[in-house]
Order: sequence, then structure tokens, then C-alpha cells
Amino acid sequence: MLRHTHTAEYPDVKPDLPPRSRGVIALLAENCTSCMLCARECPDWCIYIESHKEEVPAPETGGRPRQKNMLDRFAIDFSLCMYCGICIEVCPFDALFWSPEFEYAEFDIRDLLHESDRLEGWMASVPPPPLPDPAAVEAKEVGVARAAAEKAIAAYEASQAEAREAERAEAERIEAERVEAERLERLEAERLDAERAAAEGLERLDAGRQGGQRGAAEYAERLDAERQGQERAAAKHVEGLDAERQGEERGAAEHVERLGAERQGEELAAAEDLERLDAERQGAQHVEAERLKGLTAEAARRDRSDPENADLESEAEPSGPVARGASQEEEAGRAQKAEQQVAPEVYPPDEETRRIPAVEDQANDSPIAATAVFPAVPEAEPETAPKSTDETAVLPPVTDTEVLPAVTEETEEDDPPRRDAR
Ligand code: SF4
Ligand code: SF4
Repeated sequence: MLRHTHTAEYPDVKPDLPPRSRGVIALLAENCTSCMLCARECPDWCIYIESHKEEVPAPETGGRPRQKNMLDRFAIDFSLCMYCGICIEVCPFDALFWSPEFEYAEFDIRDLLHESDRLEGWMASVPPPPLPDPAAVEAKEVGVARAAAEKAIAAYEASQAEAREAERAEAERIEAERVEAERLERLEAERLDAERAAAEGLERLDAGRQGGQRGAAEYAERLDAERQGQERAAAKHVEGLDAERQGEERGAAEHVERLGAERQGEELAAAEDLERLDAERQGAQHVEAERLKGLTAEAARRDRSDPENADLESEAEPSGPVARGASQEEEAGRAQKAEQQVAPEVYPPDEETRRIPAVEDQANDSPIAATAVFPAVPEAEPETAPKSTDETAVLPPVTDTEVLPAVTEETEEDDPPRRDAR
């Protein structure tokens, strides 16, 4: 009433409350005996107590064991409490105290049910009761209460330290998780970059591979075109060689035909020469036979004209046509005998006079590989006929032959060199 009203700067500035302010009810569990007085006197029935009985040994030797109520649960529902203070007033063991602490608002009304551990925690904020007399000796209950308060304060500080340690550990965990998340994010970004780089590298490699394939295909096409050109050129070359070979074969065939014609001409000429020589020989033989007949007749006539032989001849000569016929036969036999003695057979048989080989197979390299052997033509033999009656005409044997040069030599010389068409 004597001061001006002013606005408290809560929560920046804590209010300076009086020591006996009714903020929250604190519990000193060591003093509670579970008598249930507070619970029964509470007008709102907001105190919940649960306990059980235990037997404890007697404090003095020989005493009987006592039973003690062991507090299991002590809870106050501040959503129902009306802060009347009856519970504190009726407690006979000073187990309940007023604390000025008021900052325990909750978003959930169910959290306003404070159990014994939280009620014991409020003991740290309970101010000590003022001494009635500063000079008086401290009461025993006060010392016990102070010790309990100090113990509660120590427990509260320990719990606060544990809470701060838990907060620090939680902050460290959150920081570690954040660092780990950043590291994972960085790793993910690096992985994405690596995947992108790998994809780009694969695209480059694919492009290079496709370029290489196109180049290889173009090179293969070029090689194929060159090969086809070479094949066409080779085919043309082979055709040219084949045409040359056919021309050479035709030339060789014509050459062979020409040689055959020449050989046939030579054979015809040789046959004509042989016929002519045979005719001349027969003429010469006929002339010689006539000459021998004349000589024989002359000798017979000379014998008949001799007088010494006339008697003998007359004696020996038979008379009549039979005797003349016999003399003529004898004369003919003597003439033939004389002819055989004068003109022996000097000509060899025809099969020894000439030997004309056949044309060999044209499959050989030389079209004509045989030799042609013709009998030598005697030079002017008919003129060597005997001119006197004593000389006998001996014709040279036809066996002396002249060996014509082999056609193969001319063929080899005339033949153009054959080239391998392949
Ligand atoms: S202060 Fe009053 S209403 Fe609150 S618990 Fe104590 S007796 Fe009950
Ligand atoms: S009255 Fe006191 S001693 Fe009895 S039950 Fe309540 S708090 Fe505990």
C-alpha cells in the first residue's frame, strides 16, 4: 500500500517471494510413517499413500521386534489440490513442508500428479524455518531437518548434474548425429559426384567405342572394297591369262597341225620317191633280165654254131616237137638261174625301209615328241646301171636311212614360252 505498483519482468526477472509462500508441497520421506492423517484430512482427496508393514529388530537387546510401516508410494495430485495446507498442518511428524517453488506448470494435466521422488526434490527449495530466538539452542528436529534437507539438496544437485550430464550427452549425441549426418550427406554427395563422373566416363567410353566401331566398320568396308577391286583385277588378270593361254593353245594346235601337214607332205613326197625308185628299180631289173636273156640266147646260139659241139648237140638234142619243148624249158631254167646268180635280191623288205611314228599325245608339253625316220633316197641310182655285160647292177640298199630332226625341237623352238595362268 505504501509502494507504487509495478510490472514484474517475469520470467526475465525472478520474483522475490516471501519465505512462507505456498508454491508446492515438499515431502521428507524419512519422517513419514504412513499414518494416513494427511490423506484423511485432505478435503480434496488428492493425496495417495501406499505402504506395507515390515518387522524390524528391537533397538534394545532382549526387546521384541517391532513392526514398521514402509512407505511404498506417496503422491499428490496438484491438479486437485487447493493449497489449503491442512495436510501440512495435521502431519504429526513434520513430513510435509511448503516450498515457494511455483514453476511446475505442465501441458498435460496428468503430469501434475507428483510422485514421491518429485515431492522429495522440492525439499531443496524449502526455506528453513526462522528461529524463534536467535540465542536459543537449535532444536533436535531442526538439525535432523537440516541434515535431511542437505541430503535432499545433495540428491537434487546430483540429479541436476546427472540431468546436465544427460543433456550434455544428448547434445553431444545430437552433435555427433549432425556431424555423422553431414558426413553421410558429404559422402552421398561424393558418391553422386562419383556416379555422375562414372556415368560421364561411361558415356565417353561408349561414344569412343561407337566411334571405334564406326571406324572399324568403315575400315572393313574399305578393305572389302579394296579386296573386291583386287578380286576383279585378279579375275580380269586370270581372264587375260586364260585368253593368252587359249591363244597359245590355239597357236600350238595350229603349229601342230602345220607340222602334221608338213609331215604328211613329207610322207607323201617320200612315198612318191619310193614309188618312183621302185618303178626305176623294176625297170632296171627288167632291163637286166632282158639283157641276161639276150646274153643267154647269144651263148646258146654260139654253142650251136660251134662244129665241135654240133655232133654232141645233135646227139644230145632230141628231135621232134617234144625235144624242142624240153630244150626251151631247160633254156628258160638256165636263164632264170643265171638271172638269180647275176641279180641277187639286194633290196630289203619294205617294212625295214621306212618307219613313220605316230603323233604322240597332245597332253604332253611337246605336241610332237616322236621322231620321223624316212629312208634315204638314193641319188641317181638308176644311172648306175651296168654299162657292160660283165658288170652286175647292184643297187644301194634302201636300209641306209636318214634320220630327220625331231619335230619336238622345232616345236620347242617355235613354241612360245607358256606362262602359268594361275
Ligand atoms: S493443501 Fe489441502 S487440499 Fe492440498 S493436499 Fe493438503 S490438505 Fe489436501
Ligand atoms: S500425516 Fe504426515 S506422517 Fe502421516 S501420512 Fe501424512 S505426511 Fe506422513
